[in-house]
Amino acid sequence: MYEMTVKELSKRIKNGTLRVPEVVEYFQRRIQHLNPKFNAFVSVTNPVVDDQADGVLPIPYALKDNILALGTRTTCGSKILEDYESPYDATVNKQLKRAGAILLGKTNLDEFAMGSTTEFSVFGPTKNPWDPSKVPGGSSGGSAVAVATGMAPFALGSDTGGSVRLPAAFCGVVGYKPTYGLVSRYGLVAFGSSLDQIGPITKSVEDAAIVASIISGYDPLDSTSVPRKVNLLEQFGKSVDGLKVAVPREALETDGLDKDVRNSFEDTLKLLKKLDCEIHYVDLPILKYGIAAYYIIAPGEASSNLARYDGMRYGLRAEGKDLDQTYKMSRGEGFGEEVKRRILIGTFTLSATYYEAYYDKALRVRRLFADALAKIFQEYQILTMPVAPVKPYAIGEVKSPLVYYLMDVYTIPANLAGLPAVAVPVDLKDGLPVGVQFLAKRFDDPTLLNLAHAFEAARGEFPSPKIALE
Ligand code: GLN
Repeated sequence: MYEMTVKELSKRIKNGTLRVPEVVEYFQRRIQHLNPKFNAFVSVTNPVVDDQADGVLPIPYALKDNILALGTRTTCGSKILEDYESPYDATVNKQLKRAGAILLGKTNLDEFAMGSTTEFSVFGPTKNPWDPSKVPGGSSGGSAVAVATGMAPFALGSDTGGSVRLPAAFCGVVGYKPTYGLVSRYGLVAFGSSLDQIGPITKSVEDAAIVASIISGYDPLDSTSVPRKVNLLEQFGKSVDGLKVAVPREALETDGLDKDVRNSFEDTLKLLKKLDCEIHYVDLPILKYGIAAYYIIAPGEASSNLARYDGMRYGLRAEGKDLDQTYKMSRGEGFGEEVKRRILIGTFTLSATYYEAYYDKALRVRRLFADALAKIFQEYQILTMPVAPVKPYAIGEVKSPLVYYLMDVYTIPANLAGLPAVAVPVDLKDGLPVGVQFLAKRFDDPTLLNLAHAFEAARGEFPSPKIALE
């Protein structure tokens, strides 16, 4: 069962060859066996499943631990929320429940989703299933590992600057960030509100489309949600012959681009040509400024969003001699190093003296970015780039935050411009998976997913990591 896609499991449940309770039990047992080795789950549920369970998707799943699910803790991987009980269901969780899906547990992440490696959680690092000495990517590393190890058939993550796509690529699974506004963020703990998007992590592109179909749709509880229903599976099977695919030249000129990643990317282009897509090289000189803009905008929004953790309303309280000291001590003890760094950067760049020099300038860069991409999409339907310039690092290898900020160079553009993007595994290099990324224009998620699906078929079966069940 651990190798089956959501689609295959659904089929077997519908035709009666598998029963929902036995499926759920199977995955619970697998979590029990494997989680101690990989640290993907931070908590597990105890669902009561009856044999009559139905709905369109009676499949077990995992949720990143910054998404609220009634009856679970939502820790965000932080000491400050270590004992925080979800007071309500996130809209995505409500929709999954309504579809009959069964929550298995909550998954590990970099604290408050700030990071690219899932090393920076109060629960310790999550391990890469292909080599447990390596990082699984982040920040939704727990969700990616849950799917790649077959501890869950699918999972949800959040993507503010690549956190669904990067861990998917590092673990050899599919990660899809829908167009901004397509999926409600009500009940997702806010990080960078103008960038945050929830997306599925799955074994196949079709599974990603199936899951996203359930969690997308208008939600009056999220003011950025768009009143528009997109049929994500609508184009599946349509020929991609003649589809125009843009390759930004600058993407191949990135400093520190790993040769394996480059080779995989060349292989991707060959496969696309085999599918009779037209490959065109385009200029995107602004690409390298994305990181600078993102690492001002995201911390700015984070410093504002995280102001609510004051020791009064949520989570940890460290009692001081007066209110001011209680604030300082609660935040001082509750937040980890990276989160504090972001709050400091954000508070600095939003301060009256520096606002124009930094935050305002970053917003202008963001606008130029969105315009440059929109211009490309006037002529081309798809843009392709690697997911990350590097392969998974060893856990603990990277000491400077600047080095892991650079891992986001290819994923940030989709967030800055609100575009849909998907990461699909290409091949293994030195035993580690390498993925590729496709982007499309806003709301053209159906074209994006169809191309990714066609690519996946042309690539052929992707292996699962060999994991010994001790
Ligand atoms: N790595 C990026 C950051 O640290 C993106 C995180 C995310 O998408 N949640 O901010």
